[in-house]
Amino acid sequence: MKEYKFIMIASTTRKDGIARILRDLGLSPRTCDLEVIGGSNFFLRLPSADSRLQRLFVALDELDLDPPWDYRTEVHYDRSDLESCEYVHLHVNRAARGDTGPSFGTDYDLSTGCPECGTGARQSSPLRISRGSLPKKARAMRTHHGEVLIDHELATDMMIELRSERGLRQVEDRRLLTPLPWWQVLPEVSMPPAEASTGFTVDPDRCPKCRRAGFGPARDWRPLEFTYRLGAAERRALPDFVSTWEHFGESRIRYRPGYVLGFALPDILVSNRVMRLCWKAKIKGLQFVPVRFIG
Ligand SMILES: [Zn+2]
Repeated sequence: MKEYKFIMIASTTRKDGIARILRDLGLSPRTCDLEVIGGSNFFLRLPSADSRLQRLFVALDELDLDPPWDYRTEVHYDRSDLESCEYVHLHVNRAARGDTGPSFGTDYDLSTGCPECGTGARQSSPLRISRGSLPKKARAMRTHHGEVLIDHELATDMMIELRSERGLRQVEDRRLLTPLPWWQVLPEVSMPPAEASTGFTVDPDRCPKCRRAGFGPARDWRPLEFTYRLGAAERRALPDFVSTWEHFGESRIRYRPGYVLGFALPDILVSNRVMRLCWKAKIKGLQFVPVRFIG
């Protein structure tokens, strides 16, 4: 596992000051992962253990930049970090594509969701999407609404290997309502709430009725390592695809001008077997993050 800070600095008025700070610390495109775009946008990636980071942060704060500088924490997991994980958090690292959700033809059973915001409503039809928004080359994708899709070949491999269709559902053409050669990862089973040590942020204005929507990424964007207090017997009973109890983003089931109806969605956790199938098929654009079990 390697941890990095990815630092974003932009200021047209203070670009000379920024350049000087970087130079004084010996940070240049030749000596480290620094990209300068347009002379005033600086993108810098340094290992979190680099001793210059603290000095850099202090010096940048003193510049009082507008817009302020920002950073995110990146964690690159090696296979050795993941091989022994019973479950991993599945991410699709690709630009989202395709409009889906309640405004675009997919049906939901609202009686199963929160009466106030709709969060948790069960998807009662195949996911409907326009054929043109499916990728030509990529084999995994995520939609603007947040669903994760995999191509027919990978889905077929999984169904054979896992001897089950559980957690996978074929998607449909939005206009013709005919099957498309893509499958949605749609777990039927949800985890219990994760431990607070997982590190997600929570919107203080989240739905007061269900308190299940409005979860967000960690403050510094460090990948969320979902952590559960779950015994071995309970873990063994879990299927290969499970969703988190926490739903990310905001749900909107009442029309408001300028807003698209949609649901906060849970994140997806997959078993070690599923991760290995993705590795074997050499699927690009997927990232796996360890799920931790305690107690
Ligand atoms: Zn709610």
